[in-house]
Amino acid sequence: MAVNPPKTKVLFSANQRLQKLKEAFIGKYEESPLFYACAPGRVNLIGEHIDYCGYAVLPMAIEQNILAAVSVNNSQTIQLANTNPKYKDFSVSASELTIDRENPQWHYYFLCGVKGVQDQLSLSSLPGIRCLVDGTIPASSGLSSSSALVCCAGLVTMESNQKAISKILLAETCAKCERYIGTEGGGMDQSISFLAEEGTAKLIEFNPLRATDVKLPDGAVFVIANSCVEMNKAASSHFNIRVVECRIATKILAKTRGLEWSGLQKLGVLQIELGLSLDKMLDVVEKVFHPEPYSREEICKLLEITTEQLCNNILSANTQHGGQRVM
Ligand code: ADP
Ligand code: MG
Repeated sequence: MAVNPPKTKVLFSANQRLQKLKEAFIGKYEESPLFYACAPGRVNLIGEHIDYCGYAVLPMAIEQNILAAVSVNNSQTIQLANTNPKYKDFSVSASELTIDRENPQWHYYFLCGVKGVQDQLSLSSLPGIRCLVDGTIPASSGLSSSSALVCCAGLVTMESNQKAISKILLAETCAKCERYIGTEGGGMDQSISFLAEEGTAKLIEFNPLRATDVKLPDGAVFVIANSCVEMNKAASSHFNIRVVECRIATKILAKTRGLEWSGLQKLGVLQIELGLSLDKMLDVVEKVFHPEPYSREEICKLLEITTEQLCNNILSANTQHGGQRVM
C-alpha cells in the first residue's frame, strides 16, 4: 500500500487559531513549536452506531477539532498542556507510559495515541515532546472528541519520530489503541478523522477498512444540536454494555447455528460466515432470542461456560460487575 501520510501545507499567517496557539506555546515552554497536528471530530449522519458490530457507517467530519502544537527534544519526557484550564498539565517519562482505565483523565487519551503508534512502529524508545493541545469539540457530546484527541496524539507521535504511516493504517492503529482506555469502539471515529475530505461524507466499511465518498447535496447545511448532557464513555459502562450485548448475541447465535463461536465477536462477521442476507439474519435473530432480558446464568447455560469464563473472555473490564442484567 502506498504510504499517503496525512500532511498539508497551511498558510500560517492566515490562521489566527494557529498564531494564538503558537503564542501560548511560547508563553508556556519558552520555545517555538516545531509542527502542528490536527484531527477533526465527527457526526454520524444516520445515527447507526454499528461499527463495533462490523457494519458500515456513514459519518462526516466536522470543523471542530483537536489541534496540537509540538516541539521535540531528547529529554524522553512527554510534557502535555492544554489551552482549556479544565485539563491539567501532565508530564511522564516516555519509557513509563501507563494508562489508568479507572481514572480516564484527558492525558490518558493522548497516551493511547502515543502508545498505539509506538507499538505499531515497534519503536523501542521515544523522543521527548512538549505539546500544547487546543480543542474545539464539545467533550462527551457524541462528536467524538476522545477519538480526535487519540488520533491527534497518534499524528504527533508519528511526526515526532519522523515516520510516515498511511491514513488507513493510522486509522486502524488509533481505533485499536483507544481501547487502552477501556472503550471498545469499532473504528468509525478514528477512520473518519483520518479519511475525511471536505464536501463529502464517507461510507466507512470494515475488514478491510475502506472509505467511499457520499456526496452531500450542494448547499446542504447540517445543524448539530447539543443537549449539553455529557456522557463520558470511558468513565461509565453504558457504551461498553452495548458492545458486549452485541458480542454475546453473536456468540449465542453462532452456537445455535453450529459454528465455532469462541473467536466470533461481531454480528457483521457472523452474517458473512452464515452467508445470510440482512432480512434472513433478522429472521434468525427473532427465532433464537426471547424479548425479555437475559441473566448471566442463562447466557452461561446457553454458551455452556462458567461465569468466570464469561467475565474473562467475553465481558469488558467495566461490564464485569453489571448485576443480573447483562443484556
Ligand atoms: P466524546 O463523545 O466527545 O468522544 P468521550 O466521553 O468519549 O466523549 O470523551 C471525552 C473525553 O475526551 C473528555 O473527558 C476528555 O478527557 C477528552 N477530551 C475531549 N476534548 C478534549 C480537549 N479539548 N482537551 C483534552 N481532552 C479532551
Ligand atoms: Mg468518545
